[in-house]
Amino acid sequence: MGTIRKLLGAYSRPGEVEARHEAEILLGHALGRDRAWLFTHADDVPGADAVLRFRQLMQSRERGEPVAYLTGRRGFWTLDLAVTPDVLIPRPETELLVELALERIPVGSECEVADLGTGSGAIALAIASERPLARVLATDASAPALAVARENAERLDFNNVEFALGNWCAAMGARLFDVIVSNPPYIEADDIHLDQGDLRFEPQSALASGSDGLDAIRDIVGSASTHLGPGAWLLLEHGHDQGERVRAILESQGFSETRTWRDLAGKDRISGGQRA
Ligand code: GLN
Repeated sequence: MGTIRKLLGAYSRPGEVEARHEAEILLGHALGRDRAWLFTHADDVPGADAVLRFRQLMQSRERGEPVAYLTGRRGFWTLDLAVTPDVLIPRPETELLVELALERIPVGSECEVADLGTGSGAIALAIASERPLARVLATDASAPALAVARENAERLDFNNVEFALGNWCAAMGARLFDVIVSNPPYIEADDIHLDQGDLRFEPQSALASGSDGLDAIRDIVGSASTHLGPGAWLLLEHGHDQGERVRAILESQGFSETRTWRDLAGKDRISGGQRA
């Protein structure tokens, strides 16, 4: 019989832990259950419809489609977020940007925060969840992306996040902010990685940014100062080899206290500076 154990057994080749894990997630998705449920129901025989859905999902995965787009879900920080191909799939290394922002946002008082190019809303919502008194503005130049972020905010019942459509600082209006964060596109336009793995399926406008990958960062840093109060922080995610150049861009625009932080993999990942 086609038990759950047997269905998954076909994807349990030695050394392919990741493939097995993905098969579990996708079978769970086809059945509307989580992975834990599968283990306690290993001898159940799923219906033909669910088995067909599972096989279709596995075929899509074999063609390279990211698991997060197939399930429409991705965990980030403490949040379970909806994701679609209109938004970048949130990455664990971006949680460092959230941590650095939280260090600069008081727990007990009001604070104005902006997340530029919010995509799924991951960064904005993670910050908003930890700092209920902060007012968080989440912007994106893509209306479909902003719709995903809004949906996440509504489903998770946030009331301290607002949304604005527009390009980087152009979407911010006249408010002054205490902290501006962004995970902008920063990959070089001709980088071969754009044609590999999950990146092939993600919005190119969220990944690539000019010949040196720094177009969006130059744009943001160039106009951020007028949206920051004195002593306010700008924090930007970037590629592992861009820290020095991002600090130089920040310094050329008058930012002080510039620094680069490494992610858990030990790679330069976030740089930031303070408005004088
Ligand atoms: N960190 C992503 C990657 O290299 C890129 C995300 C981005 O450009 N902001 O896969």
